[in-house]
Amino acid sequence: MRVLPRHDLHCQQAVELVTDYLDGALSRRQRRRFEAHVKDCPNCSAYLEQIQAVIAMTGTVHPEDLSPQARDDLTTLYRRWRGDDPG
Ligand SMILES: [Zn+2]
Repeated sequence: MRVLPRHDLHCQQAVELVTDYLDGALSRRQRRRFEAHVKDCPNCSAYLEQIQAVIAMTGTVHPEDLSPQARDDLTTLYRRWRGDDPG
């Protein structure tokens, strides 16, 4: 019987760490936990890719730099995580 991958971080925590991760502001331990989560989590790996694409284009990470489509997607994700999405 297979054991499911253990998730040390919830998605919301991982998302909050993304900018610090990319800034190199995480401790080695935090970074390992973050990377372990992203590796197992399609949502967070897609999110990280999106952010990295934005950084590659603009050199900064600000939600307003995202395309409207990406921003919509992320807003939906955030709402779902925060539990205030009426849908
Ligand atoms: Zn996740």
